[in-house]
Formats: sequence, structure tokens, C-alpha cells
Amino acid sequence: MIKYRPTEYKQALPQEIIMAKTSYPNPTAYYKEPGPKLDEESPFESMMERFRFAAEILELDEGMFQYLASPVKQVIVSIPVVMDDGKIKVFEGYRVIHDNVLGPSKGGIRFAPDVNLDEVKALASWMTWKCAVVNVPFGGAKGGIRCNPKDLSKGELERLTRRYTANMLGVFGPDKDIPAPDMNTDEQVMAWIMDTYSMNSQRTETAVVTGKPIILGGSQGRKQATGRGVVTVTLAALNKLGLMPNKTTVAVQGFGNVGAVSAELMYEQGAKVIAISDISGGYYNANGIDIPDALEYMKNNNRSLEGYSKAEKISNDELLELECDVLIPAAKEDQISKHNAHKIRAKIIAEGANGPVTANADSILEENGVMVVPDILANAGGVTVSYFEWVQDRQGYFWTEERVNRRLNRMMRSAFDNLYEVSDHYKITLRQAAYVYAINRVAETLELRGIYA
Ligand code: NAD
Repeated sequence: MIKYRPTEYKQALPQEIIMAKTSYPNPTAYYKEPGPKLDEESPFESMMERFRFAAEILELDEGMFQYLASPVKQVIVSIPVVMDDGKIKVFEGYRVIHDNVLGPSKGGIRFAPDVNLDEVKALASWMTWKCAVVNVPFGGAKGGIRCNPKDLSKGELERLTRRYTANMLGVFGPDKDIPAPDMNTDEQVMAWIMDTYSMNSQRTETAVVTGKPIILGGSQGRKQATGRGVVTVTLAALNKLGLMPNKTTVAVQGFGNVGAVSAELMYEQGAKVIAISDISGGYYNANGIDIPDALEYMKNNNRSLEGYSKAEKISNDELLELECDVLIPAAKEDQISKHNAHKIRAKIIAEGANGPVTANADSILEENGVMVVPDILANAGGVTVSYFEWVQDRQGYFWTEERVNRRLNRMMRSAFDNLYEVSDHYKITLRQAAYVYAINRVAETLELRGIYA
């Protein structure tokens, strides 16, 4: 671990802002939705607070701080689409590359009515730290299109995706910037991006996106990867506290991709999963919930736990406050804040979701001795297997699911051990250690590369 001396880095890299050519003076004026509120509870502001704390520990000089806080490139494009009724509609799309010091930038693309540049910028920097924590050779990026995908037909969605990709041909690339799915984008959207990029380069470029269907160069194990990673670091945390998985109790908030896989794998480890939840509420059984049974129920019940009768109905807030060894918040951000942090009785919180604990809850949890495995480590299994997908595409050789899982497990375990060592060295929490580790890694690489002039 090197400490940052004041160096010759006096300036942040100049930001490159490429604005779209559009016939409208201000396309955003056509949208009423407000941007994210960067108040004290905002997950992005929470992240910046943690970033500042880590920078202080590392004694980062001001120039380096400025460099790491500024995105390398912000691109805004307008995307004209011929709608099904024959009329043209213009959408706004974004791609922000926060950093590409460690390698090509990586990050998802979201389609939502309230996507905006500030949000995309914050999420891009989040990706930089996440990739650095798990030692994948990627920088951070994020993109989005301001649209309501529910109002679009499949054909409109395809034309929107393809034109966005065409406008980003100079940005995307297997060695430059690699998108992935995020909110409201899926395998099909990734397939369209891959095809549009490939058509323009006149060769098939599967490695330009990850999260593709397996038949198009996707990876085995990608769908379960985030939940699997959550469980790997949870087991490592239990081990540090001297707890046996088969003697622990677990509560999981959210029963989607991340939550359901986490619950299922903890159940397979012999843990007693005493509570699960989804948007319909919480379900509690002190004797443990039969997770395969709950999964089957959900499958046959329009993907909802509503009406699940083999457990007592509780609220999502009550679930968070249950006495248990492990709490896995895997639904959404801002679930544990200064309002309820003092009521948390779990020994370990493994953050499956992004930003489920606000910055001002951190110190309360720390004082109460709760070990928090932070999101940028706990849910980094997804980006780790995305990295494996990119490696396999470039090799043109595909791994078995067993190999993917084994390597995922190894990388997550080693990332946990690295952070644990940093947290022990500086006597700081795992979350603070994650930011210290990630910022240090990027800063150290930048110091070696130097600033191109
Ligand atoms: P998902 O849509 O598959 O599942 C979300 C689950 O949370 C659903 O069961 C939903 O009913 C439930 N939910 C929604 N609002 C809720 C509320 N207010 N209270 C309780 N439950 C609620 O989403 P996902 O892919 O599992 O993602 C969950 C979280 O994990 C998000 O924060 C996401 O950003 C993060 N994440 C996901 C991945 C991934 O690979 N899927 C990777 C990294 C981080």
C-alpha cells in the first residue's frame, strides 16, 4: 500500500465534452422529470463522502484528487427514431467514461425517463471503484437513454438502440469502452448493440458488449454471478467472525436476480434463511424458509411472492430489523439510513444492492459492531463475470460454468482478503478499506503511466 506524496500532478485531465448536434436548442427542456437530488441521503453523495474520506487517508494531493473526481469523457447524443406511426421522435443519450487508467472502460446502459448526465456521471465513477476493488483491468463508465421503454414497441426499441450505438461508434470498442445491461436493458439490447457495432466494423465483434445471450458469446454463469459473489464474500465474512454457515440465520431483502440467487446459495450452504421479501412485502419463518419452494412459488405466481403462505407476512422495514447473523439488502438503494441504522441487529450486512446503506448510517453501524461488506465489493461478481465474458470472446474459447464459478469465487475471495488486510492496517471499516484500496490502485497506476502532455 503506497501513500500518496504531493507530486507534480497539478491538473486534472481536461474534460472532453462532446455535445450532440440537434435542431432543438435544448432537448432536455422537453422533459419535466427532475434529476437526482444530491442531498445527504443520495447514494451518489454518499459515495463521494466515502471517496473524500479515503482520499484523506491516502493523503492524496489535490491534483490527483481532482483527476480522480473528474470524468475523462462525457458524450451526449441526440437520437432520432422513426416511430411506428411514421413520426420522428428525438431522444437524448449519454455515455460517460469516468476513467480508463486500468484498461478499457466498462459499465451498463440504462433506459429510463429520468436518466440524466449527473446520474450517469456518478454511476460511471462507481464503476471505476468497483472494477478496481476486484482487480479487473477495466476503468469505469456508464450510459443511458432518456426514454420510457414501456411506451416503446420492440421495433422502436431496436431502432433507438441501434441509432444510439451508431452515434457512439467512436466511443465503444472492445479495447476502448464496453457497455453492459443495466436498468431496463437486457440480453436482446446487448445483441443489437453488438450487431450494429459489428456491421459498422465489417466483422463480428462480440467483445464490444457483455451480458449477451450465451449463443452470441455470452458467458455461462453470468446471470447468477452477482448473487454468487455476494455469497462468496458473506462466507468469507462469517469465517472472520468465527461463524459456521450452517449455524447462521439470514434475512434477504429483494427476491430478484441478486436476492433470490443469494438466498438460494446461502440455503445450499446450510444457512437458515429466516426472511425474504420483494415489492409485495416481507415473509418470515423463524424455522427457516424452504428457498427452492419459495422460488417455485414465485415462478408460478407471476414472479411475485405475494400470498406466500408458508411464512408470516412482515413489512420490508421489519425484515431489516430482524435479529439474524447476516442481512443481505438486495433490492434498492437507501434502505438503511440514520433513521433505522440503530435498529439493525444483524452481525453482517452484505450489500447485494448498490447503495443500500447511506453514508450517515455507516458510523452508527460501525459503533454497533455491524460488519458491512460494501456494495463495491459484495455485488462485484457481475462485473467480474462480465470481464470473463470479454476474455472468452477475445479468446474465442468458452469456459464451462464450473470454471467460471471457480474463478469468480477465487477473485471475490481474494478481493475480500485484500480489503480485510487494508481495513486491519488502517483500523478502518471494510467500506473505507474498499475505497482506499480502489483509489490507491488507480492512483498508483496513474503515477506509473504519468500524465500525457
Ligand atoms: P431485480 O429487479 O431482479 O430484483 C429486485 C427485487 O427487489 C425484486 O424482488 C423486487 O420486487 C424487490 N424490490 C423492489 N423494490 C423493493 C422494496 N421497496 N422493498 C423490497 N423489495 C423491493 O433487480 P436485481 O438485478 O436483483 O438488482 C437488485 C439490486 O442489486 C439493485 O440495486 C441493482 O443495482 C443491484 N445490482 C444488480 C446486479 C445484477 O447483476 N443484477 C449487479 C450489481 C448490483
